[in-house]
Amino acid sequence: MLHTLRRIVNEVNAAQNLAQALDIIVRRVKQAMDTDVCSVYLFDTVSEQYVLMATDGLSPQAVGHLRLARGEGLVSVVGETQKPLNLANAPEHPRFSFCAESGEAPYRSFLGVPIIHHRQVMGILIVQHAEQPFGEDEVSFLSTVSSQLAGAIAHADASGGIKGLAGEVATKRYIDGLPGAPGVGLGTAVVAYPPANLEAIPDRKIQDTDKEVDVFLAALAAARTEIRDLARRMSTALSEEDRALFDAYALMLESKSLEAKTIENIRAGNWAAGALRATINEHANIFDEMEDPYISERADDIRDLGRRILAHIQNNATNPMEYPDRTILVGEEISVTELSQAPLERLAGVISGAGSTSSHVAILARALGIPAVVGASHLPISRIDGCEIIVDGYQGRVYVSPLPAVRDEYLRLAREEEELVAGLDELTNRPAVTTDGVHVPLFANTGLLSDIAPSLERGAEGVGLYRTEFPFMVRQRFPGEEEQRKIYRKVLEAFAPRPVYLRTLDIGGDKTLSYFPIKEENPFLGWRGIRVTLDHPEIFVVQLRAILRASAGLDNLHLLLPMVSHVAEVDQASLIIKRVFNELREAGEPITMPEIGIMIEVPSMLYQIEDLAPRVDFFSVGTNDLTQYLLAVDRNNARVANLYDALHPALLRALTHVVLTAQRYSKPVSVCGEMAGDPAAAILLLGMGISSLSTTAASLPRIKWVICNFSMAEARNILDEVLLMEDSQTIRAFLNARLDKAGLGGLVRAGK
Ligand code: PEP
Ligand code: MG
Repeated sequence: MLHTLRRIVNEVNAAQNLAQALDIIVRRVKQAMDTDVCSVYLFDTVSEQYVLMATDGLSPQAVGHLRLARGEGLVSVVGETQKPLNLANAPEHPRFSFCAESGEAPYRSFLGVPIIHHRQVMGILIVQHAEQPFGEDEVSFLSTVSSQLAGAIAHADASGGIKGLAGEVATKRYIDGLPGAPGVGLGTAVVAYPPANLEAIPDRKIQDTDKEVDVFLAALAAARTEIRDLARRMSTALSEEDRALFDAYALMLESKSLEAKTIENIRAGNWAAGALRATINEHANIFDEMEDPYISERADDIRDLGRRILAHIQNNATNPMEYPDRTILVGEEISVTELSQAPLERLAGVISGAGSTSSHVAILARALGIPAVVGASHLPISRIDGCEIIVDGYQGRVYVSPLPAVRDEYLRLAREEEELVAGLDELTNRPAVTTDGVHVPLFANTGLLSDIAPSLERGAEGVGLYRTEFPFMVRQRFPGEEEQRKIYRKVLEAFAPRPVYLRTLDIGGDKTLSYFPIKEENPFLGWRGIRVTLDHPEIFVVQLRAILRASAGLDNLHLLLPMVSHVAEVDQASLIIKRVFNELREAGEPITMPEIGIMIEVPSMLYQIEDLAPRVDFFSVGTNDLTQYLLAVDRNNARVANLYDALHPALLRALTHVVLTAQRYSKPVSVCGEMAGDPAAAILLLGMGISSLSTTAASLPRIKWVICNFSMAEARNILDEVLLMEDSQTIRAFLNARLDKAGLGGLVRAGK
């Protein structure tokens, strides 16, 4: 059963469109369960009807035409109850409605299960028999099939499938993701794909087919040589049996059908990589279908070979990434490096299938001021390269090939955005002072040297968080002491005499170094931040030496320790810092002891502010991690991203507690997580009496606008009201209304 299920799921995932996916489902399920009929109805949210989308057994003419209004027929019963309906004699059911056009007259037994994705009933999967009733095992099987396929159906439907098949014109079709970076971007999709990841290769139209055929043949020849060399090298080390694998690989590579089919796909207009992906999927699916587990596992071998050929295609890259003007960079999981590689002046937006509001790609997009949508898991990535795309970074929406009316509306909003941003620029040289005269310093978050100019241009009063891991992430090895010193010096010098809060290396979690791999089951609960640097004093000491030496003569350095969860870690780190400081002083470096503070990002520290206060000079709240750990919601997991919200009452109460406790010890508290860049949250942070805010350069003007438009007294009153509320949605709606009332509604939605 498991094998059959896996086979169906694989086939459906490889389908090119919704119609094909549904056809595969009805055919395969009918076959596997040996039923007379299998059909799929999908719910059309526009007409509020269940539409027969595919069937094997009923009349094919009914597909796209047979429609049942909400509340009509057994299909609706399954949709309403959201559970399987198993009937031995369907026509006897009071809600049975007979449809002559479907040709279902002879079938008495009925089993329907809902297809549910993200709590929404997308449709109903039904099997029917003439007489024989369905048993418990069949109910379980069909429910399992449906639960496994819901995601794939949602994925295929996102490309407009239900409307397309039913012959309707979509009026307002978009794909939901999460707001990654505010703003609206219109442009052309450029799909970025990780090297040698065959599944992520998009289709791409080409002009020069001969050139692509040559690219493919050269890659195939290189892969053949590689496999022959491998086989030769391994011949002494491997047993006869294991060597057979290489023989099998060699045979597959010699296969004429692999070569001929790929060339045929290229001649049909696809580039070499896309044509290869299609051929490999087709071949692998044939093996997937075999009942014999040994043979079916050959499918994995074929995919492996596909990746090898692809690696050669990419090595001989005659198709380097091309970025048209107004590029919208799209990918299954856009990495920080992919984003950094794209020419910024051409980037109009970013869409990542994975990730959430606080993943680093979103942080980077915000830092660069590029509208972004993340967690757009339903995006039909393989089919959208070159399409016109709209990114709505406020609402987390993506429009693929938008209708003219939608495009015009967004063009208007984009123009208004430009005017808004131009208006904000006027604030640059004004200090961030509330209407009742309280100055709340606004700092910038940086990590890239390219952030320095925009931060200064936008009036940052210093750097509230310099993430030192970015220079580590873009290298192939640990940067040396002098290399690091130069980087840190540039930041410290650019901002002096304004303060710079340099954070020591915070790797682990989702920030990995290719040259220092950390493999863990739960990386966010594992070896991260200060835990790594305390365990590796050689890495920590080199970094501290570089940071301290970089500060010579400037006196604007503040040191920030990440991911502290135990008081002892502060003591141990402080000891090392003092030792390094003394050594450098003895060696004649003209440095002064910096202030030392910690990030509050682990819940345990919320309850030890009293113990920490005497040990540190300041606190900086990392709300990205604090939200993730306090709410037990992985900040990068799109599936639970709707639960991730820094406006959760628990987080607001925790922050209020931190500020009040730290005030008793006269220790400043700043916020440097993404929350500080959220205009709605900024009002609350003001009300709490936070000492300073640090956010990305792109958000600085917006936050300054908030500070300059509210009084401390107003902010305190708003906070008092909010602290009585029970959920983040109510809180956000309340704060947005307050922003609107103050004439700042343009900060939280597209347009002015
Ligand atoms: C945070 O956790 O809020 C933070 C600022 O650190 P990072 O996002 O780099 O983990
Ligand atoms: Mg953090």
